[in-house]
Amino acid sequence: MTIRQSGTPKWKELALGNAVLVPGSSRHNRTGDWRSSRPIWKLEQCVKCGVCTVFCPEGCIAMRRADAYPEADMEYCKGCGICVNECFTGCIAMQEEKE
Ligand code: SF4
Ligand code: SF4
Repeated sequence: MTIRQSGTPKWKELALGNAVLVPGSSRHNRTGDWRSSRPIWKLEQCVKCGVCTVFCPEGCIAMRRADAYPEADMEYCKGCGICVNECFTGCIAMQEEKE
């Protein structure tokens, strides 16, 4: 291993830590188990822009076929709140799970 002046190895020299060998493996990692709070939508304020679906890091928000409003899959929503921050209409709020 070559140690650079900065004292850190080059990225190609790092030990392999983890590898995703099979596509779709994230389906088995149900990140909803991490959640301590969940997003709640006030759909009457939603303009169906789809921004929340793009920014959700779990990709767990989809626009419903029936009415084109967003809906999160709680099996995978980890409660990060990014959708709340990104929705410009303010129609999503986080609610503690115990509520
Ligand atoms: S709280 Fe986070 S993980 Fe859950 S739907 Fe919003 S952006 Fe996605
Ligand atoms: S970002 Fe807000 S307004 Fe846009 S679809 Fe999502 S919830 Fe609705």
